[in-house]
Amino acid sequence: MRIDLTGKVALVTGSTRGIGRAIAGRLAECGATVAIVGRDQAKADAVAAEIGGGAKGFACDIGDPAQVTALVEAVEKALGGCDILVNNAGITKDNLMLRMKDEDWNAVLETNLRSAFIAIRAAQRGMMKKRWGRIINIASVVGLIGNAGQANYAASKAGLIGLSKSVAKELASRNVLCNVVAPGFIKTDMTDAMTPDAIAKLSAQIPLDRFGSPEDIAGAVAFLASDHAAYITGQVLTVDGGMVM
Ligand code: NDP
Repeated sequence: MRIDLTGKVALVTGSTRGIGRAIAGRLAECGATVAIVGRDQAKADAVAAEIGGGAKGFACDIGDPAQVTALVEAVEKALGGCDILVNNAGITKDNLMLRMKDEDWNAVLETNLRSAFIAIRAAQRGMMKKRWGRIINIASVVGLIGNAGQANYAASKAGLIGLSKSVAKELASRNVLCNVVAPGFIKTDMTDAMTPDAIAKLSAQIPLDRFGSPEDIAGAVAFLASDHAAYITGQVLTVDGGMVM
């Protein structure tokens, strides 16, 4: 079952490292031309050069709606379209509700959720015209089950699921599919910041008895981007070693 994305352009936010970097690499291996996005142009350019296959770096702070709209336009202009949109970039600003500041709530919702809405709104026109499109939003198991200390993050990820199902219904008639990948515990810079105690507690809940790798998520995204997933839309694919079932 080969995945062939030759001729497709993929925009992956937060692809300078971690899960996004692995997704970008996998889509490029499958033949797609990939737009690498991070806040720093030089870093995005360096990753694009590593990935090859015509990949190009773009600087964008996805917390700023005007920059997100401009990003989609710039990718369409430079690479000839945006067939696959992966809303991956995300941040955490954890705290118990009692201590959570308004600005931490806003920053997480704006970066993780509003950015996806803006990017989808900008990219959908081109996809609808082509009668082919794939939108894949990276949520989290926390968006399904909640997590103490992550009310803002869990709300943003649950919001992505509602957004995705609505988009799936709006765009299905144009063969534009929208799905969610919900990772469990994946080893990246984001999770390296956790305390050893928190990591130990979490690991005990994973039936497959290991942390996931960014490549585990990349495989699921490549599948959903491919024609093998042509009859799947509005779904949440949990990739978590069996943690949530
Ligand atoms: P990392 O922190 O390792 O990487 C985050 C990426 O997002 C970087 O490429 C960073 O680029 C980019 N980014 C962050 N903020 C912005 C911004 N304002 N504008 C543009 N780009 C930004 O995260 P992960 O790879 O671990 O996570 C990727 C996604 O997967 C996130 O949405 C996360 O919530 C989700 N996830 C992760 C899990 C895990 O266990 N790791 C579990 C469940 C979900 P740069 O710094 O170069 O700007």
